[in-house]
Amino acid sequence: MVPRFYNTLTRDKADFRPLDPSHVRMYVCGPTVYDRAHIGNARPLIVFDVLFRLLQELYRTSARVTYVRNITDVEDKINARAAERFPEMEPVAGIRRLTEETYQGFREDVGALGCLPPTVEPRATEHIAEMIAINERLLASGNAYLSEGHVLFSVPSMADYGRLSQRPLDEMQAGARVEVESYKRDPMDFVLWKPSNPSEPGWNSPWGYGRPGWHIECSAMAWKHLGETFDIHGGGIDLVFPHHENEIAQSRCAFHQPVMASVWMHNGFLQAEGEKMSKSLGNFVTIRDLLADWPGEVLRLTMLKTHYRQPIDWTLKSLEESARTLDDWYWFARDLTASSPDHAVLEALADDLNTPKAIAELHGLRNAAQRSGAEADLARFVGSLRFLGFLGESAEAWAARKKEAAGVDQAAVEALVAARLAARNAKNFAESDRLRDELAALGVILKDSKDPKTGAFRTEWEVRR
Ligand SMILES: [Zn+2]
Repeated sequence: MVPRFYNTLTRDKADFRPLDPSHVRMYVCGPTVYDRAHIGNARPLIVFDVLFRLLQELYRTSARVTYVRNITDVEDKINARAAERFPEMEPVAGIRRLTEETYQGFREDVGALGCLPPTVEPRATEHIAEMIAINERLLASGNAYLSEGHVLFSVPSMADYGRLSQRPLDEMQAGARVEVESYKRDPMDFVLWKPSNPSEPGWNSPWGYGRPGWHIECSAMAWKHLGETFDIHGGGIDLVFPHHENEIAQSRCAFHQPVMASVWMHNGFLQAEGEKMSKSLGNFVTIRDLLADWPGEVLRLTMLKTHYRQPIDWTLKSLEESARTLDDWYWFARDLTASSPDHAVLEALADDLNTPKAIAELHGLRNAAQRSGAEADLARFVGSLRFLGFLGESAEAWAARKKEAAGVDQAAVEALVAARLAARNAKNFAESDRLRDELAALGVILKDSKDPKTGAFRTEWEVRR
């Protein structure tokens, strides 16, 4: 199966062939660790996790897959936030504390979303030597220059700058001209290295004590872990310009390569209840806030119901619908073993990560498995769910969490359920129905079934969401 992906660089969908047939290499821009990630940030994490899973499955026997997702732990937003949070601490110590705390929170969040850890999770502060080396190459090739203690990339030095974003030059220049720093030769030039004052984080460099610009961090980490060119570069659509455009400029000019990555994949925007999410509108939700109300898999399914390139409208209705779907999947898949994922699910994903199609296939598999009752069908359904990052906990844990969240008196409900089962077994159907109604009034739904192994009648219950 040869996957096909839409490439932002060519504005076209094409067959994917790794540059090195024995090693598939992917880089995705990770978080700047100064604050809790919001739900919009969760989208690339989940989308590229699905891509990573797909690549691992497709190249299982022929290639290893390396997925690099960086941590930006040096950036001016971090410095400002650390000074605000820890005014009593020495600045560099405050920055360390802030980035470490934020990173731990980030790890918990992505784990709860069912994302596998990337192969490598490099930190910017551990790749200063590579950043300095790239800057030296760019200075030597005439693509960068020194000015007032800064190293700047000279945009006019690169003939085909702007290929990724395909923005007209005058539009990019107009954007850059809003506030032109005195040290820039051209308004579009961007910072590779800047001086730090003694209270700011910094490293010694050939250009004095200073710190990197943001864009150079990704070029350095991609180079170190994936080489001068690699297969796939991913991120949110908002990163296309200027961040990815500038990564390309740095890497291509430093290594004299025609491309930085062959395929550029970008996920679309997320809006909340039809509006752009922003702090000022008060609809800015962090992953952590949502995890307090919903299991991570509900967020994951809600995200994957929309194709990654389309904008998502994040709504309560969609979350509720995902929760009901997962309740059913957990209930239906309990006690079943998993086999390899279904071919049709893989095929949907291999078509530019068509997750809505893959989810439709899952619904089809579930219903087919219920009709046939065949062990192979059941195992393929469960295997496909696991492959997509679902069923990460036991059905019991899932059900218990939901009951807890509903705040019902579980012991009282258990007693009523047992009394109803006893009435039913005694063929006292009037009493059995009365107890069912009493439970329904509490929002409790009963699910009767036969144990597939013993054939015994059994009843499970859940709370209506
Ligand atoms: Zn980046």
